[in-house]
Amino acid sequence: MKGKSQRLFWVINAFLCLLMGAFLSAGSVPSEWQSWGAETDWELTAIAQLLLRGEPKAAQFKEVIVLPLKEANAFINPDGYLLVTEGLLERLEGRNEIAFVLAHELSHFIKGHPRNLETDPSRLEHIRTELERGLGTSVVGTGLQLLVGAIASYYSREREREADAEAVRLMAKAGFDLQAARRALQRLGDKGGVLSWFRSHPFLEERIKIVDQAIRKWHSSAAPPPQLTPPPQRAPEVYVDLQMAPWTGPERAQWQAFAEEVKQWFWTALMEVTRQGTCPFYPVKRWQRHRALIWHLQVTPIAWSLSSTAPNWHRWEVRMQWTFGRSKDEPLIITEERFSTTFEAKEPAQSAILSSASLLAHRLARFVVQHCQGMVPPKTH
Ligand SMILES: [Zn+2]
Repeated sequence: MKGKSQRLFWVINAFLCLLMGAFLSAGSVPSEWQSWGAETDWELTAIAQLLLRGEPKAAQFKEVIVLPLKEANAFINPDGYLLVTEGLLERLEGRNEIAFVLAHELSHFIKGHPRNLETDPSRLEHIRTELERGLGTSVVGTGLQLLVGAIASYYSREREREADAEAVRLMAKAGFDLQAARRALQRLGDKGGVLSWFRSHPFLEERIKIVDQAIRKWHSSAAPPPQLTPPPQRAPEVYVDLQMAPWTGPERAQWQAFAEEVKQWFWTALMEVTRQGTCPFYPVKRWQRHRALIWHLQVTPIAWSLSSTAPNWHRWEVRMQWTFGRSKDEPLIITEERFSTTFEAKEPAQSAILSSASLLAHRLARFVVQHCQGMVPPKTH
């Protein structure tokens, strides 16, 4: 174990050296990042460009990339790629708080802050394991090594102070709400994970003080709020807020696990169905809801049965009420639906039920698309 960790440490060091040196000029997204589901987002790109306008090194900035990880983290590499996890975006409320996190990372980039390398091999190993778990892959490629190295390295306390103050200046210049800097810090500061942004950016109280000082300094010169508009060819963005009501029967834990799994699959299912279909909307994820139309879809279980249908075969059926519309209180559609799955008696019911979750997610997605006519207002620009 010790030997393996040691080796990993040197491999990461070697890659970071590459990154700082020759790799710097390559400037392409490592292909692994794409295969892990890394994405770009028009709003994040627009925020970053706005923050960087007129700044030195602005031309060297490449792109904001969203990683599908639950842990809250963000960092910028010397190539000019700013990586931020969905877990971090999920914890923030709206555009202005997102702007603070991006501005903080961009400040490290603008100021050319050097990172210190983590030298504890067991921590590197730990981070690698967490990342692989989060990304659902055991591939040990260049991209993963870069990611481990970037997450495990850190800036000095002095550089963090500088980046916080600088972030507020960038926000004022671009017209973002400066109080959002404080709110974002408080929101991110109250919890910490293995990979958390606060593990590499500690000192919450101190950081809030720095941000308050910077707000006092810059608020009078703040620009008017920016107008950010989606690309003109994009269909209206919609967040379908899927709520799975609890089941009160003895199988409540089973239902809850199933419901969570359905929610995990739902966005992917919506993407697939809207791609094939004729419905003119673009489904966004939860963290993007502040800029989207919101539709409400509620699933309420009303009956649960598990029975033998034939020798060695079991059948699980749940009866549900589905409500769907632009408002929670006045749904456009209320319907009763049945969903069932048949499985071999030797298979545990729990796993059979869980593995049917993606089917229900797809049915719900098709239901939304079938009823979306008239839900999207006509385009005004
Ligand atoms: Zn930082």
